[in-house]
Amino acid sequence: MTRSSELFDRAKRVLPGGVNSPVRAFRAVGGTPFFVSHGHGSSIADVDGRDYVDYVCSWGALILGHAHPAVLAAVVQAAERGWTYGAPCEAEVELAEAVRRRMPSLEVMRFVNSGTEATMAAVRLARAATGRELIIKFEGCYHGHADSFLVKAGSGVATLGLPDSPGVPPELARLTLTAPFNDDRTVADLFRKHADRIAAIIVEPYVGNAGFIAPEPDFHRSLRSLCDRHGALLIFDEVMTGFRVAAGGAQESLGIKPDLTTLGKIVGGGFPVGVYGGRADLMKRIAPEGPVYQAGTLSGNPVAMAAGLATLLETERPGFYDALERRTDRLVAGLAALAASHGVPASVSHAGSMWGLYFTAGPVHNYDDARQTDAALFARWHKAALARGVFLAPSSFEAGFVSSAHSEADIDFTIRELDAALGEARGR
Ligand SMILES: *Cc1c(COP(=O)(O)O)cnc(C)c1O
Repeated sequence: MTRSSELFDRAKRVLPGGVNSPVRAFRAVGGTPFFVSHGHGSSIADVDGRDYVDYVCSWGALILGHAHPAVLAAVVQAAERGWTYGAPCEAEVELAEAVRRRMPSLEVMRFVNSGTEATMAAVRLARAATGRELIIKFEGCYHGHADSFLVKAGSGVATLGLPDSPGVPPELARLTLTAPFNDDRTVADLFRKHADRIAAIIVEPYVGNAGFIAPEPDFHRSLRSLCDRHGALLIFDEVMTGFRVAAGGAQESLGIKPDLTTLGKIVGGGFPVGVYGGRADLMKRIAPEGPVYQAGTLSGNPVAMAAGLATLLETERPGFYDALERRTDRLVAGLAALAASHGVPASVSHAGSMWGLYFTAGPVHNYDDARQTDAALFARWHKAALARGVFLAPSSFEAGFVSSAHSEADIDFTIRELDAALGEARGR
């Protein structure tokens, strides 16, 4: 009996499924999750003394890898002065200014404690500003666990939403319309049908929560112009892509200016921080400047702000994103080559240091395409990879992440071990 499985048994008695976030339970790949003892740089170690090269990186939050010394120093220094005040502090202003420098569309922003909080508040604001109730989201996109977002479409057909989870009132779910990603014609149809009732489109500019899916060249331009034509707002959910796919996020690399943006993950440097922000004329509706209420006891606390700021400053070093991209290119090329050498159809792609692999020939344009992946093969591969010291996200439908702590040697080790692991996965 490993120490991890002992802990998992104890955990299951006091935590639903033994975890505090569902995917951590490894249900999609089987087996018992490992319990972490510590992380350092590109690697994460379990309580049984095993080391893994980590491609989860706390679901993208750790762009510098684990326990980066600059972030650690900033956190310790901040904590020595107390860790929450319930009153304003300078670090909030500094981080907000740093975010606006990197993403000028966030003229004004509000800090919250998670990505979920950020998207929830952004939609509240969009509804308040437009006086409309409907929102459009895309099938396979994840925007946190707030009621309005736990809705998916019937296969391929845009429908009025039905809740994805018990506990979400159908009356609320009906306010969420869905369309397949990369399908602007369906979005145009939705606008034709409901034009003056649609408050906003919310979209992951690059999908990272159904595996990794890139947008087609004109998709976001088309969303932008539909919103403009119909007086709806465009919300880019950059919780995952922000400071990840490019220094200025997806909005920079795609050249699209959203009305509102949500951030999380990297912006807190691994501490619980979310952000929603955008046009000043919209953000001035937020309390206390305006009537749209939103608040948070621990929001903008000095330790989380310090971690976020230290992380952003590290990513501003010359060549930071180029180096990350080169490392990711190497990984993605290696993955495509190893799949080909085993004769396994695979579709591998990336944007910056965010990447994905499906065991299907592709191309993958949307969630339906993504579901063609061979999930059983992935599950066996994941298990074999773990045994060989590589930690891939425990589901076919998650993106992977490379951090600046991943060396070329890490990448080469990974490709070698994943190659062997794929052989083992196919043998069984
Ligand atoms: C992770 C994620 C969220 C939710 O953020 P939490 O901090 O887990 O609440 C929302 N949107 C996207 C795109 C995400 O990747």
